Amino acid sequence: MVTQAQILQWLEAYATEIEENKAYLTELDAAIGDADHGINMDRGFKKVSAQLPTLTDKNISNILKTVSMTLISSIGGASGPLYGTWFLRASTAVADKQELTPQDMLELLQAGLEGVLQRGKAQIGDKTMVDVLSPSVDAFRQAVEEGTLKAMQQAVAAAQKGLQETIPMQARKGRASYLGERSIGHPDPGGTSAYLMLKSLLGVLDSSR
Ligand code: ADP
Ligand code: MG
Repeated sequence: MVTQAQILQWLEAYATEIEENKAYLTELDAAIGDADHGINMDRGFKKVSAQLPTLTDKNISNILKTVSMTLISSIGGASGPLYGTWFLRASTAVADKQELTPQDMLELLQAGLEGVLQRGKAQIGDKTMVDVLSPSVDAFRQAVEEGTLKAMQQAVAAAQKGLQETIPMQARKGRASYLGERSIGHPDPGGTSAYLMLKSLLGVLDSSR
């Protein structure tokens, strides 16, 4: 079971991961966008991190909803509304749950992905975070019977593979699409931050075994 405390730990771990990768994410976005992805994400997750101490008595759904609101209000660009939608849908998927079973985790991850798909209208192969999130949900689903930790390990492996596969893609959504063929040859910045999000969740599950 994934607990409320682990969800808070995950958000803190992801905020730290974003801070440590701020320059890298911005460098990736400099290659194919407008060099602000690291700055955007760090601004949002610094706010989230500052709020976490006020959320210790909230349930998982309320925590995720607060994160959503904070991201939407503090991150500009494409990634604010997209991550905001991911967290909002994730929040709705686990309404009233005190702890999350593997099936609940699957529903959380699936709902987040569906929100991003509806909001951003990107398809697989468009070189976006969808290329990382979508295979990771599939991998989690295939391993869900083995429990959350094993399923999450598979999800992160699939996310990493999905991220590698964005390198040769030509961007078809967002600012990177303005570059046409020049977007080829670089990993997608939002795909990279999405990979880090899943990796930090796995890190928390792994350390509390
Ligand atoms: P902006 O592109 O507005 O500068 P960011 O740099 O913060 O915003 O985020 C860029 C990332 O957002 C991209 O790398 C991509 O992963 C993601 N992205 C952009 N448009 C879409 C979309 N329509 N659907 C899904 N993800 C998208
Ligand atoms: Mg950008």
